[in-house]
Amino acid sequence: KPEMEMEVFEKYESNVRSYSRSFPTVFKKAKGYKVWDVNEKEYIDFFAGAGTLNYGHNNDKMKKLLIEYLEEDLITHSLDMATVARGKFLEQFNEVILKPRNLDYKVMFPGPTGTNTVESALKIARKVTGRETVISFTNAFHGMTIGSLSVTGNSFKRHGAGIPLSHTVSMPYDDYFSSNRSIEYIERFLEDSGSGVALPAAIILETVQGEGGINAASYEWLRDIERLCRRFDILLIVDDVQAGCGRTGTFFSFEPAGIKPDIVCLSKSIGGYGLPMAITLIKSEHDIWEPAEHNGTFRGNNLAFIAASEALTYWENKDFSNGIQEKSEMVSSFIDHVIEEYKELKGEKRGRGLMQGIASEIEGLSEQICNEAFNRGLLMETSGPNSEVFKFLPPLIIDKEGLEKGFAIVEESVQTVLN
Ligand code: PMP
Repeated sequence: KPEMEMEVFEKYESNVRSYSRSFPTVFKKAKGYKVWDVNEKEYIDFFAGAGTLNYGHNNDKMKKLLIEYLEEDLITHSLDMATVARGKFLEQFNEVILKPRNLDYKVMFPGPTGTNTVESALKIARKVTGRETVISFTNAFHGMTIGSLSVTGNSFKRHGAGIPLSHTVSMPYDDYFSSNRSIEYIERFLEDSGSGVALPAAIILETVQGEGGINAASYEWLRDIERLCRRFDILLIVDDVQAGCGRTGTFFSFEPAGIKPDIVCLSKSIGGYGLPMAITLIKSEHDIWEPAEHNGTFRGNNLAFIAASEALTYWENKDFSNGIQEKSEMVSSFIDHVIEEYKELKGEKRGRGLMQGIASEIEGLSEQICNEAFNRGLLMETSGPNSEVFKFLPPLIIDKEGLEKGFAIVEESVQTVLN
């Protein structure tokens, strides 16, 4: 009974930790890019589990394999032990992803979440270099454990730790200044490292900052950062938890920049079906941990390995990435249209690929637009330090019709909010 479900929601979902209340309904069913609540109201999903459902909800191909796997009583939980499903994933990842891109990384399973891969990256970078500090960026988001939070550039979230977080230095991200001063600033800082400022172990970055406001770094900036890392012998960590797995058009978001990070963090859509999974890619020379020097119980989710292997087959076909490109252009033109047509929005276009957004200068407006969109059957989220951006983050498998339906709702919501 939908009324009963709503009653349970009102009774148990906290008023204080009220995130669930920003989508005030009880969700029940989902397929592809559509979601339904207990009242059978349909929603288009422009949220995709914050980048976790790149291949859509309840992907048919993955579902079939998962059901078969369960029916045969094959192993589901295996800590860090070798299993057939894990082996298949490792082989597939090497053959479909790493080899064609000429990348030579060791794959490590750090634990089930994005935070876990970031945490492992920070640890290994410190262990490899023997240095303490890590450079991160303004508006970065890397996770919620003390280590990953310490490189997160969001003061509200940092306050959640209850103590000041140390051993990190926040630097201006690419768009922080209007000129190239970010690189000059960082370079100068590193050059001064002999005079009392400790040389960092690593620089950690997102190529497109998801939670921090859909800020896309230029390829040139990324290459400059890599150059500084090489010059000062600092490890480059790319956190591709949200921007990776095709979100920006290529499997790794950094591919078009032509850089080769020392460590890459992947999670969210690597698990394919929304199943918790993360991997840390480490250049062989930095792969120095002894067995169990970093471990965790949930590193062997074989259901995730099954879905993840199947997800990688999308990358065997160029049409998939070309399709992302075409849909990205649709989003981009729609955003241009909205900004041009509704000047009162004072909107600015952000991002790339299927990770784009509109930042409104007017306080609270983006949030109102998301609320209106929800009422009309579209799931969207805001991001940025003041929730000033409303994001277009649909599953990558969305079709043109789905995008257009979503756009129509966005446009109506913008009109309503501005009236
Ligand atoms: N890094 C980035 C770039 C993210 O966007 C997120 C999650 N939004 C994380 C790390 C943390 O991932 P998780 O929530 O799975 O721990």
